[in-house]
Amino acid sequence: MRKLIAGNWKMNGLISSQAEIQALKGLTGSATCDIVVCPPFTLIDRAVERAKDSKLVIGAQDCHAQRSGAHTGEISAEMLADIGARYVILGHSERRVSYGEDDEIVLAKAVAAHRAGLIAIVCVGETRHERDEGRAIEVVGEQLRESVPEGATSANLVIAYEPVWAIGTGLVPTNEQIEEVHAAIRQMLEERLGRDGNSVRILYGGSVKASNAAVIFGLRNVDGALVGGASLKASEFAGIISAAV
Ligand code: PEP
Repeated sequence: MRKLIAGNWKMNGLISSQAEIQALKGLTGSATCDIVVCPPFTLIDRAVERAKDSKLVIGAQDCHAQRSGAHTGEISAEMLADIGARYVILGHSERRVSYGEDDEIVLAKAVAAHRAGLIAIVCVGETRHERDEGRAIEVVGEQLRESVPEGATSANLVIAYEPVWAIGTGLVPTNEQIEEVHAAIRQMLEERLGRDGNSVRILYGGSVKASNAAVIFGLRNVDGALVGGASLKASEFAGIISAAV
């Protein structure tokens, strides 16, 4: 399966950061993987403009479940599609933890993303405490069951396995731990979507860097990465992209 490398800029980036988009655009010509960058809402429009005529794809980091209405400060999936975003990250642990987003909310947002024609990158992952209790697969399984909408297919759904304790910490699960969870996710996707579940891309996320990407990409059922910190500099992101052969 062709790998997908998605960068999550989180709340980083000013107009001057467009230089990074320009640099990434240059990389996509020869890349053997799909590349998505999800800048903050304020930069999506400009990034889409800049990525025009290249294979660089722009996404968003969140959306609201409703199409429009009295939701001060929110952005709908339709608005994102309108300005040319093609992907949206949903259920990132920072949103689950800091903004109280539970599976029901993530599900509603994923339904909205599909309604607007966006590809949903649904994030799942256990906390350190849940892993220590031996509940990683149970937790990930429940998040997956509860937040993947009816009608999901390999064309509109990507799953990102992101252990909460590995995000931004420099800690990475062992290769065996990554393979174990990705295999369980694959099995659940097949049970849910039938044969098409085999084609849904499952990304690993959590402290991926140029130096560890090749090993992670070599693991079974790892179809790419969701990258936070290391996606902010095109030079570092380029190292991850080139590891995805
Ligand atoms: C993330 O926030 O999705 C992430 C994976 O962050 P980092 O790569 O910085 O650990």
